[in-house]
Amino acid sequence: MVKIFLDPGHGGTDPGAVGNGLQEKSLVLTIASLVRDMLLDEYLDVEVRMSRSTDVFVALSERSRLANQWGADYFMSIHINAGGGTGFESFIHSSRAARTVQLQNTVHDAIMEQLSVADRGKKSADFAVLRASSMPAILTENLFIDRVSDANLLKDAAFLRSVARGHVNGIVRAFQLQRKPGSGGGSVYRVQSGAFSSEQNATQLKTRLEQAGYQPFIRLEGGLYKVQVGAFSNQTNAEAFAVELRSKGFEAQVFLS
Ligand SMILES: [Zn+2]
Repeated sequence: MVKIFLDPGHGGTDPGAVGNGLQEKSLVLTIASLVRDMLLDEYLDVEVRMSRSTDVFVALSERSRLANQWGADYFMSIHINAGGGTGFESFIHSSRAARTVQLQNTVHDAIMEQLSVADRGKKSADFAVLRASSMPAILTENLFIDRVSDANLLKDAAFLRSVARGHVNGIVRAFQLQRKPGSGGGSVYRVQSGAFSSEQNATQLKTRLEQAGYQPFIRLEGGLYKVQVGAFSNQTNAEAFAVELRSKGFEAQVFLS
């Protein structure tokens, strides 16, 4: 049994970073809850606990204490950045134990595969939750709440699912979790309107879709910039959405992932 401790940052009286009508504390709770649900629904032999599953304040020392007391195998703290940058970065403690570095490489890369955003790098810092947790620990900073383009992505439910999926994929690879037999629970039918080797072409299509009232985003996968317009758990709904897109002059294909 692999024990994963998820730590959505902030909460309660501490909103974390705020900007563009968003609060860090609620975004990270959404992402962490999705990560928990995906892991428990789709994978065998994994247990998940969270430092908080509601909008409450939990002290930093308490977060690590809970994970240590439980004997977690991995501590994953989830945050949203602020301060004028853009993109994704991850942190481990400055002591950089070999296993912790290895896990950061796996998890960071899995998240970047899901997101078409700037990679700000694999970093280290003396953060309290990383220092005080006795198991390998990572802290992810998922885009910038005070950057309009990042905030627009964070307002998109499908994008938050991709952020969560990246965290899940990283855990699955790092701990070699096995899928539940026959679990369709995590299947997502992605509706894609185009795939390009040129980022500029992908951006042009994204702009056209936005002008038509959709909320597309670009995922870099296998060297291609894929313009995704929607994601559905139900194939019929995905196909119906693809038909609608085609009726408005866009290409649309449904992929199961
Ligand atoms: Zn934070």
